[in-house]
Amino acid sequence: MKDISRVIEGGYCIGCGVCPFADPSISMVMDDDGRYQAKPGASEPSDKANACCPFANAQLNEDVLGKRLFGAIDGVRHDSATGYYLENYAGYVTADGYRDRGSSGGMVSWLAAKLLETGKVDAVLHVKPAKDESVMYEFCVSTSVEELKEGAKSKYYPIELSEVLQYVADHEGRYAIIGIPCFIKAMRLVEQEDEIIAARVCYHLGLVCGHLKSTFFALSEAWESGIPLQDIKMVDFRYKLPGRKATDYGIQATGVVDGKTVTVTKPTRELSTTNWGYGYFKYNACEYCDDVLAETADITCGDAWLPQYAKDGQGTNVVVVRSLEMKELLERFADEIHLEPISADVVAQSQGSGLRHRREGTSYRLYLKDQAGEWRPTKRVKPSNRIPHWRKAVYKERLELVRQSFIGFHLAERSPQGMQAFNEHMAPYLKRYKSADNPWYRRVGKKAKQLVRRVLGK
Ligand SMILES: Cc1cc2nc3c(=O)[nH]c(=O)nc-3n(C[C@H](O)[C@H](O)[C@H](O)COP(=O)(O)OP(=O)(O)OC[C@H]3O[C@@H](n4cnc5c(N)ncnc54)[C@H](O)[C@@H]3O)c2cc1C
Ligand code: SF4
Ligand code: SF4
Repeated sequence: MKDISRVIEGGYCIGCGVCPFADPSISMVMDDDGRYQAKPGASEPSDKANACCPFANAQLNEDVLGKRLFGAIDGVRHDSATGYYLENYAGYVTADGYRDRGSSGGMVSWLAAKLLETGKVDAVLHVKPAKDESVMYEFCVSTSVEELKEGAKSKYYPIELSEVLQYVADHEGRYAIIGIPCFIKAMRLVEQEDEIIAARVCYHLGLVCGHLKSTFFALSEAWESGIPLQDIKMVDFRYKLPGRKATDYGIQATGVVDGKTVTVTKPTRELSTTNWGYGYFKYNACEYCDDVLAETADITCGDAWLPQYAKDGQGTNVVVVRSLEMKELLERFADEIHLEPISADVVAQSQGSGLRHRREGTSYRLYLKDQAGEWRPTKRVKPSNRIPHWRKAVYKERLELVRQSFIGFHLAERSPQGMQAFNEHMAPYLKRYKSADNPWYRRVGKKAKQLVRRVLGK
């Protein structure tokens, strides 16, 4: 059996949609839990599909691809958290409302716009509101800056690449793609296999990634905000609340209430499914992914989740620059942006909990799979259980929270209580998770330290 078949059967498919492009006998389906998953045809997926799958191709991991792409560039350095880099920055766009429209500092839309304006590309592949109503968002092709602007902001929503890949294959031109790390890796793998795609997709703009959500995330947010489940139309996942810190953002949910179309704004802190640490409605594949900083992208942008930047509610990006062309673009249009150089360590600090979950945590989850004698993808991190007992408990309880979130949402769909039924279902699992995350002996230890400090007058 090929590894791609094991990926699909084992639930490690992130639904990126490159395998249906590589092998048309495979299709993409939205499963009952609101996640895109690959569905093979009657025969086993082709060798090409196997080589393109970001969870099947163990040889071309992010280190190998990164070295091929950036390893020979003059002045490039490598860091275990960020991958290869020329420069790292914190900053935002000052020109033309990009920051206001963006999730963070607006750097990603601005970079893509610069590629279009300078004629480096004819079109950008990125995620925008979907044309038909069966899904909220989908990968689209934008050929002008105006079209590009319609797609600003992060979509914590299932998306897949098969249609835009076919578009690129059918339409000559130069393209840039914006994507989360596994999608950028998948593109790099397709480009190894397909000369036309390799020649046409010239720039890869990466987004930092915590994990990807099923459709249940958007639905739960809107439902809990007061829109009936069947009447939810759209969710803006990143609404900047005036006067609040960047970390204290809201959502805007649009739908029909009492026959009228309404848009409701809610701070995420008032919603029960928005704590990213709980991982509700996460794709299982994300538990076995160790690339947080899109290490195979020419440039990666994320949120500068650090107190010194988060206090500015307008939003600030962390930026990891890997290619000379991206470096030159930032220098050429320096008067439109504000950038402060930061170290790779500061970039890593801004993603501290994500990196811990995906490096230490993945290592432990791989160990658990090996102990159970189950197949799992080969990752850069090695399986290990050499972590404190309480961390093991945290990772186990997180897996359970994710599993139960899907069960809880299905229960809520059938219950007259709606999201209240979801919350009641989750309550005991959350309690267990919280006590694993802060066990009595750590609480006692913290109290003892505080006492000693007080006695010593420090
Ligand atoms: C699923 C997901 C998880 C993330 N997790 C983290 C995290 O843990 N830590 C962190 O610091 N940052 C994370 N980010 C990135 C962060 O949310 C912002 O997208 C990033 O900081 C860029 O902001 P911006 O203001 O520069 O971009 P904007 O100017 O708002 O532009 C964003 C661009 O990205 C495109 N886009 C949005 N969603 C997707 C998608 N799913 N796939 C492909 N393209 C898309 C849009 O179409 C738009 O062109 C995540 C993003 C996503 C989509
Ligand atoms: S991860 Fe992507 S390439 Fe791999 S099986 Fe799923 S859809 Fe196909
Ligand atoms: S966590 Fe990894 S596998 Fe999951 S969406 Fe992000 S990059 Fe892809």
